Amino acid sequence: MKRVLLIFAILFTTIRAQQVELWGRAIPGGLIVGKATNAVQVRLNKKALKVDGAGYFVFGFDRDAKGKYLLAVYFKNGKSFRKEFKLKKWKYFVQRINRLKRKFVTPPKKYYKKINRERKIKREKKKLIGKIDTAYYAAGFIRPVKGGRISSKFGSQRILNGVPKSPHNGLDIALPAGTKVRAMSDGKVILVANNFFYSGNFVIIDHGQGLTSSYLHLRKIYVREGEFVRKGEIIGEVGSTGRATGPHLHWSVMWYKNRIDPNETLKIKLNRKPKIYAVKN
Ligand SMILES: [Zn+2]
Repeated sequence: MKRVLLIFAILFTTIRAQQVELWGRAIPGGLIVGKATNAVQVRLNKKALKVDGAGYFVFGFDRDAKGKYLLAVYFKNGKSFRKEFKLKKWKYFVQRINRLKRKFVTPPKKYYKKINRERKIKREKKKLIGKIDTAYYAAGFIRPVKGGRISSKFGSQRILNGVPKSPHNGLDIALPAGTKVRAMSDGKVILVANNFFYSGNFVIIDHGQGLTSSYLHLRKIYVREGEFVRKGEIIGEVGSTGRATGPHLHWSVMWYKNRIDPNETLKIKLNRKPKIYAVKN
């Protein structure tokens, strides 16, 4: 009897071992977290994704992503799993902002040097993205501030003082200055920036495997570069530094260079049942 039970237990674990769990939505700006124990390789189209020891991997779709994406998971025993995602066309808001100071719409020449210097710093720090294999984001996601009014949605096409500009790559939440801002998940602080022309004081956190979050226009920053922060830890205070018409948090999320809708991370509840795909033996 014991032997039969043991065989059943082994069978059960091997069957369970070849499954793929997915959380999140396949839409432009969407994010998907996956878990596949015993996976040796995971690919999205031609890109090999990072998979950590627990089998976690993540991928996202840019604001302007379209067409088909093929996810392929290869297991130790030679089995594989494939799933195709077809992205629907997405419509974005057109947002007109007219009260902006002129220097923020078309910056005067005297700011060029500063802006270029800041771009370079950002570019250098962004080279670090994708170097962390561990899925720190597996701690789950929270909204970095409580309440507030959404003053600009993710992806909005922006027209500043009548001049068309690049789309809004984050989510703006208007709140009183001084409101505490929390880390949306576990991660490592890769950039603490002070007084940047556009973004003001801000923080970028690397959540592993190419997933990052940014918190812009802060009044105060409580963390340092290189520091590890936990989900929910206070990292700063809402402010209106940089290009801002009033105190608000600009919260943005990226997977490598793909612009993700921050609200999509909140739809991923890792403690709730995922979509489970069993892979036949
Ligand atoms: Zn914003």
